[in-house]
Amino acid sequence: MKFAKTVIDLVGNTPLVQLNSVTEGISATVLAKVEYLNPGGSSKDRIATRIIDAAERDGLLKPGGTIVEPTSGNTGVGLALVAQQRGYRCVFVLPDKVGEDKRNVLTAYGAEIVVTPTAVAPDSPESYYSVSDRLVAEIPGAFKPNQYENPNGPLSHYETTGPEIWRDTDQKITHFVAGVGTGGTISGTGRFLKEASNGAVTIVGADPEGSVYSGGTGRPYLVEGVGEDFWPGAYDGSVVDRIIAVSDARSFDITRRLAREEGLLVGGSSGMAVAAALDVARELGPDDVVVVLLPDSGRGYLGKIFNEKWMRSYGFSQESDERTVGDLIA
Ligand code: PMP
Repeated sequence: MKFAKTVIDLVGNTPLVQLNSVTEGISATVLAKVEYLNPGGSSKDRIATRIIDAAERDGLLKPGGTIVEPTSGNTGVGLALVAQQRGYRCVFVLPDKVGEDKRNVLTAYGAEIVVTPTAVAPDSPESYYSVSDRLVAEIPGAFKPNQYENPNGPLSHYETTGPEIWRDTDQKITHFVAGVGTGGTISGTGRFLKEASNGAVTIVGADPEGSVYSGGTGRPYLVEGVGEDFWPGAYDGSVVDRIIAVSDARSFDITRRLAREEGLLVGGSSGMAVAAALDVARELGPDDVVVVLLPDSGRGYLGKIFNEKWMRSYGFSQESDERTVGDLIA
């Protein structure tokens, strides 16, 4: 019988698939690492597993303990999944701008959520940061993973994502491209690939226009999960050879093309990373192998990137997908 003992054993070992359509005119091989095939639906399952293992080992998380983290997205799902399997309570602090669907995903896994108002100053006792700090201080046995600073985030990618790519490309990878949020993915995977190849693999970060990694001031952008307005400890710039800034318009255009042309329903940060990967691949030849990491699924963005009304409301022009019966039989 072939089966996993628990769902946590299904984290990682995600497949690579070649991109064949968005790569038109490019001679290099471009391979996508499909992280939405992790059990919680994103690359964040990897860091959740490693962060909780380390907290148990270091005595920061004991039986009956509570995980408290300000997170609305994929990290929360990863933590909730692992916490549930290990018998921990999970409390997530969410700003009120987070949509109902995302809240429901967290509670579906058994996490408890506290919603905080967006329209208050960061030092207000009601703010996202103040509330999570207070919960950590006052809940007995509370542990805050702090994905922006926790070294186990990048380490999880050093130990799993990097070796998987090196193995699955038969050591032929020449370029690795990933979006940068906390920086954990690019720093950990990049460090492994640099070491394994004696520096031969080029590491490229993709960043939303406006974010600090590409020299911006932290001005707003719409693509979610990537870019920052500060420098997190999980980011190690010494392994990154190049950063490419990508506009929201281009990120969303490629995201939609990945669904329609490659059958990959992925989130906006995946489109952003592929946009950067195509820029890199265009400069390369047939012997080059570019691997681009796709962090999550497009299911979480159906009301945004895949919704014409939303896209148009932000000025991204989209053709209508709706047809009348008359159109279809004409
Ligand atoms: N894309 C999405 C959708 C994410 O949630 C994240 C994590 N914030 C990233 C990309 C970036 O990954 P990392 O934090 O490892 O830089």
